[in-house]
Amino acid sequence: MRILLVEDDPALSLGVASGLEREGWSVDVLGDGEQAQSEGLVGQYDLCILDLGLPRRDGMDVLRHWRSRGVRMPVMLLTARDELRDRVAGLDAGADDYLVKPFDLPELLARIRALKRRAEGRLEEVLKLGALQLDLTQRELTHDGERVALSPRELALTEMLMAKAGRVVPKDSIVTRLSSWEADFSENSVEVYVHRLRKRFCELGVVIRTVRGFGYVMELANQTEAAAGNT
Ligand code: CA
Repeated sequence: MRILLVEDDPALSLGVASGLEREGWSVDVLGDGEQAQSEGLVGQYDLCILDLGLPRRDGMDVLRHWRSRGVRMPVMLLTARDELRDRVAGLDAGADDYLVKPFDLPELLARIRALKRRAEGRLEEVLKLGALQLDLTQRELTHDGERVALSPRELALTEMLMAKAGRVVPKDSIVTRLSSWEADFSENSVEVYVHRLRKRFCELGVVIRTVRGFGYVMELANQTEAAAGNT
């Protein structure tokens, strides 16, 4: 998942950004309402965390502008003002949720996961493929109940593939989801990650099949054999 974080307090945005990255999400940070407004119109983000009090342009104005231009990404507002009228105005302006500062990082993460599930029309917290199970709340992958340790990026890629198990996940969408401005993440990097995951999953009876020129399919090894007519 790719997140746009708009927050002008450097200490806060640093803390939030590193928390989001530990979840395996890519984060781009902006500290200015004017810049955020134009980036939100062109950038491909799955979600935005938007502070209300911003230099150059207020968060509420930015949100109204996005919604008037058809930008539909879920927006979580951050507000220092615990006032009912701000919250109501924010929701009326098209925000999906809000948090009042100061907030705890785990609460922010849990709410973002909920927004993401809602946006994907997915309500269950667990993805399953054979004996493989990915708990989206705990960010934990298990096989037959045994924990499979993965890095946050490996886990993020596994989630993308498992969410569409049996169907193709385009390579360019993987690049988009796993990259951020800082990181030099290319199609070659995707291949490196897929190669690593393949090695991990091969003994678990799960295959990541390459669809040449397009992307990858995750499926059970016996499904691949059946497809190849080897059964
Ligand atoms: Ca602020």
